Amino acid sequence: MLHRIKRLNSLVKYVLQYIKTVFGHKLYPGRKKITVFLYHEISDEPTAFSQSFGLCVSNQVFRTQIAWIRRNFTIIHPADLLQPRQIPSNAALITFDDGFHGAYHNGISYLNEHKIPSLMFLNMGCILDQKPLESALACYYSSKENLQEIFPGLNLEKNTPLHLSINPRMMEEYLSIKSYSDYEKINRYQGELATVSEIMSYTDSGFHTLGNHLYRHWNAEALSDEEFMHMFNENRERLSDSEYVVDFFAFPNGQPGSCFSQRHLSLLKEAGVKKIFYSSGGINDDTDKLLLNRTALFETDNTKWKLWKRLVIANLIGNNHSYLV
Ligand SMILES: [Zn+2]
Repeated sequence: MLHRIKRLNSLVKYVLQYIKTVFGHKLYPGRKKITVFLYHEISDEPTAFSQSFGLCVSNQVFRTQIAWIRRNFTIIHPADLLQPRQIPSNAALITFDDGFHGAYHNGISYLNEHKIPSLMFLNMGCILDQKPLESALACYYSSKENLQEIFPGLNLEKNTPLHLSINPRMMEEYLSIKSYSDYEKINRYQGELATVSEIMSYTDSGFHTLGNHLYRHWNAEALSDEEFMHMFNENRERLSDSEYVVDFFAFPNGQPGSCFSQRHLSLLKEAGVKKIFYSSGGINDDTDKLLLNRTALFETDNTKWKLWKRLVIANLIGNNHSYLV
């Protein structure tokens, strides 16, 4: 009986949230709400790495999703976030992480063509060297051999996976034992990253802007505070070469707790960063907050009903993390 009441209760909650999600902006036009969408790769040929994390959206589904976002939201330019008075009700921001070649070639080229603003968070170290993201390297190595033998101090079964726990010292140690540096093979497993000149050609439109994702794709929780800030500052410095940059930061991997914590937020706030993004799939009720949540869209979100469902869940998740910034 109690179980039934609980189920009914969550059903009522879901229905109410559904109504609020679909009609909310009409009922409360003055609210400074923002939905930040997150993409990684746009391609009809997903790589093994992007498939294992659901990172790739096909061209057709991407266009369906963008058309739905345009119908139901006002898409803002990232710089508008710094002028909260200008933010319309039911605003959306379209963001990407990591700088995949397909995200540019298939996604941002389409957005630029339709004069739709977008924001890409980059690890400039990986882009400049054209070497794989550290998270992809860790996943590739994990799939190839028994890492427990190489890192006996690490309990990969019980603790977090290697791509969240590996740090620069471990990577160096691993490469010194294995002298594994078949980056071309790993790039194929991961998917190619765009080059600096490609990225710059997309920013020239004025619709595409760049943000900071650390100099390399380490998990913030696996770094010391000094390493974290060094990676943050080095990337900030490299990005400042372009005029199409906002001083925004997005955490690699993006989950509160396993990927970042309060101490990172305090360090970033002290450094004067203008906005910080994470990605636990929620919607923000207040654009003025320094810390904003993002909602990834997936290949399976391929009809308007599935997209509304994604949004209802995102509204239920919200931006109610326990961190204070
Ligand atoms: Zn990333």
